[in-house]
Amino acid sequence: MSRRGSSVKGRLTLWYSAVLAGIVCLLSLFVFFFVRASLVGHLNRRLEADFTVIAQDLTEDPDENPEVESENAARIFQVVRDERLRFETASYTKSGLPLFTKTTPAGGRSFRTNAGRHFRMKTASAGPGVLLTLALDEEPLRNSLRTLAIILAFGLPLGLVLAGLGGYLMAGRLLRPVETIAHRAAGISADSLSARLPVENPNDEFGRLAAVINATLRRLEDAFDRLKRFTADASHELRTPLTVIRSVGEVALQEDLDAAAYRDRIGSMLEEVDRLTRLVDSLLVLTRSDGGHVVLARHEIDVTRLVGQAVEDLRVLAEEKEQSLVLEKAGPAVCRVDEATLRLALVNLLDNAIKYTPRGGAVTVTSGEKGTDCIVEIRDTGPGISPKHEDRIFDRFYRIPKNRSGVPEGAGLGLSIAKWAVEANGGRIELESREGQGSVFRIILPRGRQIVPKRRSG
Ligand code: ADP
Repeated sequence: MSRRGSSVKGRLTLWYSAVLAGIVCLLSLFVFFFVRASLVGHLNRRLEADFTVIAQDLTEDPDENPEVESENAARIFQVVRDERLRFETASYTKSGLPLFTKTTPAGGRSFRTNAGRHFRMKTASAGPGVLLTLALDEEPLRNSLRTLAIILAFGLPLGLVLAGLGGYLMAGRLLRPVETIAHRAAGISADSLSARLPVENPNDEFGRLAAVINATLRRLEDAFDRLKRFTADASHELRTPLTVIRSVGEVALQEDLDAAAYRDRIGSMLEEVDRLTRLVDSLLVLTRSDGGHVVLARHEIDVTRLVGQAVEDLRVLAEEKEQSLVLEKAGPAVCRVDEATLRLALVNLLDNAIKYTPRGGAVTVTSGEKGTDCIVEIRDTGPGISPKHEDRIFDRFYRIPKNRSGVPEGAGLGLSIAKWAVEANGGRIELESREGQGSVFRIILPRGRQIVPKRRSG
């Protein structure tokens, strides 16, 4: 039992041995006293029976010496008449028992001779003026009890030692998976999150513990992977505008240009700075949402009014592309939402609809209540989205590869921000689209339900 107190194996064995010792001690005491009571009972019954036989012989023939009966000769007894010894058997004399002139209490009693021998004995009346004393040797009984006590006294500690040893070995065997788990877990670092702990038996407690830790490792690994991908994608996206700014600047410095041409170059650089700023803003929103630091101030608002405002804010973009941008109101839609977050979703979806719909197309927005939900639909006559992209369209940095001529490349963050913003308000986004026929992005917000902001999980 190494490191007593600190090792579960040692403590388990100690507890187990202590409880076992208690139980075995109680059981041994019970066995000892039970055997003793039954042996004494048996001896008492024999004493009574023998006493009755001799007393009867005496009563039948008071003057006859009862010792002549061959059975009685072997017995240890003494007859006293009028307080004087009438006779005693040879075995009585040999045993060293004294003269008894007083009756013993019912049930007999134990008597110890001067030589140290014990007898079970009874003195009682066996006729008028006659006192009969009968003794039975207690030594065989005492020897049996002594042997039993010795067996228990030596067997008990030996049994306990063996049981403790067995318990210690068994505890070690049972706890071995814990040591394996601890050993393997100690070797897991951020670089080896793909490692898993061994699950020897998935149905026992250790197996379940290992499975839970493995599930945690899997989630950590996913989170790390997402973080790495996000960092790599974000760095890549930040590089592009920075490279453009740098090369435009360098070329401008090398050339000898007039003021108008310099203004033009600076204009291009500022456009890239704008793009960079938008990108950093989007990254900030997503990072905050990941950290769960966005505090939502939810109030009952008319979502239709909010949609109207967003439409008016982006109308200038639609006008630039000669598109019709129409808000079809289906009545007020009152929902308990955070206005700023929901606006973020609306602006991103509207911006996409205008951006990807060709010049002269139409963007139609409807907002209203349906059953227990507030529903906002943004419908466009753009190129649509093929089903093979539908699953990934809301992923961060996901863009449909080069299919829009003349459409400036975005960073692929707009839809993931929109999805997060709607889900943070307790709602969901649905996409209905057919390639070449336009798309419908539908925001569904449950009304009057307690809304819990969610962290991004995918
Ligand atoms: P981006 O910044 O590239 O617009 P988003 O996350 O907003 O990023 O969109 C991801 C991709 O989904 C876009 O690259 C685009 O190809 C496609 N997409 C988004 N909205 C529409 C739409 N209304 N019509 C067609 N394609 C769209």
